[in-house]
Amino acid sequence: MNNRTITRSKRGENMIKQNYDDGKKHVHVLSFGGGTQSTALLLMALKGEINGVIPDYIIFSDTGWEPSNIYKWVDKVNGYIKQKYGHEIIFTNGGNIREDFIKAAETGSRVATMPLFTLADDGSVGMIRRQCTGEYKIEPVKRKVRELLGYKPRQQVKEVVHMWKGISTDEIHRVKSIEDKWIEAEHPLIDVRMMNRTNCISYVEREGLGTPAKSSCIGCPFHDNQTWLEMKRNDPQSFADACFIDEKIRHMPVLNGQAFLHRSCKPLREVDLNENQLELDLWANECEGMCGL
Ligand code: SF4
Repeated sequence: MNNRTITRSKRGENMIKQNYDDGKKHVHVLSFGGGTQSTALLLMALKGEINGVIPDYIIFSDTGWEPSNIYKWVDKVNGYIKQKYGHEIIFTNGGNIREDFIKAAETGSRVATMPLFTLADDGSVGMIRRQCTGEYKIEPVKRKVRELLGYKPRQQVKEVVHMWKGISTDEIHRVKSIEDKWIEAEHPLIDVRMMNRTNCISYVEREGLGTPAKSSCIGCPFHDNQTWLEMKRNDPQSFADACFIDEKIRHMPVLNGQAFLHRSCKPLREVDLNENQLELDLWANECEGMCGL
């Protein structure tokens, strides 16, 4: 249980500011996820609405397996901020999660696991601990920051890096305050703006960019039935690809039992997505990262 309260905290007001009097160099980084909240945060920041602080770097880590509408959205936002504010998104990645899973399924090579559902021979079900957010989203952004600041691997970072994440008040359970010794994780949508996801959508729409979507990998096992169903209806190519990967990972050499993308532990292609199932918010499982934001 996260014990943060949803108030405009003193910490937020004090931490996110233009000048610090500690004699250290401060760098502000916006970790851009390509989704609703981080788009709103980006636009607010460039308008000076986050205590007047403009991020030094805006970084997007691409898992390589987002749906095409998210890539189009990222391009659109990038074009907009370039033209209007003269800022650009910096792209990075930690590999291609889709390709890495195919390779792991075929050869048994190591892969940072998605939170797959598992069915053991004795019929017990489970969920694999998620490693993918760290490897494909969080660590690549940190490596890019080090590179931009001119550090070699393992060299100590001297600057204080303020890492902004687009977590909104309705997702406060995902806030993780401890990040890294050289990084201050900050959440301006909560600490400065008190905005929820709906507020973020309205904000972006008012800017004239259209309606942002929730970003995530095509085959993310955190999808609820509604998300799978919408994908099946509106983006059949992505759904077919998710079904292909779902079948590919069924008998991963590195796992005991069978693995599935859908929580029912049934082949995705065969799941009745209209079933009246109890829907759990699996995004609440872990309180970190930039997936889905
Ligand atoms: S969206 Fe899902 S599968 Fe992709 S990196 Fe995040 S948790 Fe992993």
